[in-house]
Amino acid sequence: MARTTEVLPEVKKHFGDLKNYVGGEWKESSATEWLDDTNPATGHAIARVPLSTKEDVDEAVQCALAAWETWRETPPLARSHYLFALRDLMEQHFEDLSRVVVQDMGKTIDEARGEVRRAVENVEVAAGIPSLMMGYNLEDGAGEGIDEEVLYQPLGVFAGISPFNFPIMVQSWFWPYAVATGNCWIAKPSEQDPIPMQLMMDLVHRAGFPPGVVNLVHGAHGTVDAILDHPDVRGISFVGSSPVAKRVYTKAAAAGKRAQCGGGAKNLLVVMPDAKLDRAIGNLIASCYGCAGERCLAGSVVVGVGEAHEDLSRKFVAAAAKIKVGYGLDESVEMGPVISNAHRDRVLGFVDREVEEGAKVALDGRGIKVSGYPGFFVGPTVLDSVRPEMAVEGEEVFGPVVSLVEVDRLDQVIDAINRSPYGNAASIYTSSGKTAREFRHRVRAGNVGINIGIASPMAYFPFGGMKDSFFGDLHPQGRDAIRFFTESKVVVTRWL
Ligand code: NAD
Repeated sequence: MARTTEVLPEVKKHFGDLKNYVGGEWKESSATEWLDDTNPATGHAIARVPLSTKEDVDEAVQCALAAWETWRETPPLARSHYLFALRDLMEQHFEDLSRVVVQDMGKTIDEARGEVRRAVENVEVAAGIPSLMMGYNLEDGAGEGIDEEVLYQPLGVFAGISPFNFPIMVQSWFWPYAVATGNCWIAKPSEQDPIPMQLMMDLVHRAGFPPGVVNLVHGAHGTVDAILDHPDVRGISFVGSSPVAKRVYTKAAAAGKRAQCGGGAKNLLVVMPDAKLDRAIGNLIASCYGCAGERCLAGSVVVGVGEAHEDLSRKFVAAAAKIKVGYGLDESVEMGPVISNAHRDRVLGFVDREVEEGAKVALDGRGIKVSGYPGFFVGPTVLDSVRPEMAVEGEEVFGPVVSLVEVDRLDQVIDAINRSPYGNAASIYTSSGKTAREFRHRVRAGNVGINIGIASPMAYFPFGGMKDSFFGDLHPQGRDAIRFFTESKVVVTRWL
């Protein structure tokens, strides 16, 4: 597609009052409370989202349970056919899905296309379920003439609760695997940008999934509590901030549910003196400012080791200053707004506090104005002279603000990463294989990058996370997902 500085057409100006998708139908929520859902670039409301009630959740669970009776008996190959149909529909509507992500979440159109591509890939991988779900056996495994085998079976109804920053992709880490393995699903997207999942459900409907297999319930924390309290929900997939991830994990586990709960992050990018700096800079910038820093894998602290720091900070600040900020539907824009006014205030408050603690503002994006768009913009910001402990032990920023830190030795950075309460991602830039290997071996982070700032796992690998960045045993995506959504049954057979 030709690139343009024109603003691409929006999918719709206003999406009205959102409905839940339950039992194969669009249903009005019984909510009495509604929130305005805004376009972060314009600041205008583009939908109203219901805070669905306990009754709404119960209706969705009952529909899912009823559908499960038949769905669990549907052979894996037949289940995969629905995913193939959905995949084709996602390709046909790829551009609309991407544009609605821009309208509702605020990232750039290229970032949104990348997100939707990742969602398609998860549907594609889950469609391989006949191979993925195979058990194993051993002839004479329990003695002569006695064979032993393991079968994997679905558990029932699962629910997925997702954050605002990847409104389509994060749900796709879970639900295609849940339904492929024979479970039924209830999606609860973020109340801050629920429209993309609304469009996805329209495609799910058109792909012909039997009613009740995939459901959508809008809402916020009260709706999540109703899901957690429901005795017929067998498991929870969650991604969001660490305190909420921990709360959801604790509550779900106490109720005997399965839970996989991804949390927040504060990721370090380490630049060694032998790094190929000119090639690294673009990659560092993309990591830190892509999606306006609202990515759980985003670099938030850039550490120059030894003599690397001086050149690094000069080149980094110069490159960050060139980022074009604006409405993501303009293809020439490189960074969009943050999600909300409240979040912008949080990000600006973080910068103020760091300055009070002694950081110097090397690039100040606090006062940015984008002509024609009164939304929630923060320009690329760089803080220099940040003390390592401030950078590492501080709060998650989740915005376009980067702390530059100087240390003498790699050991100091590895210790800092391992002391951090978070363990989502860490990257190193170096041309030494030995240094890269040492880093890979020693850092306690679930996603590790070598000369790559966003170590994002493809759909056939699990999305990692350690410490307060992940609560649970089995991660989303890949083989872990198949194990999370199934229980194993051992069968011993004596052939008489
Ligand atoms: P959030 O924790 O505020 O909300 C996430 C989800 O939880 C939403 O659906 C929300 O409705 C629900 N929720 C909020 N408060 C709740 C409560 N008290 N009880 C129950 N449910 C509640 O997160 P967010 O602001 O939407 O997303 C940003 C966060 O997500 C960041 O911390 C980011 O690092 C994290 N994130 C992590 C990963 C990962 O893979 N680890 C991926 C993406 C985002």
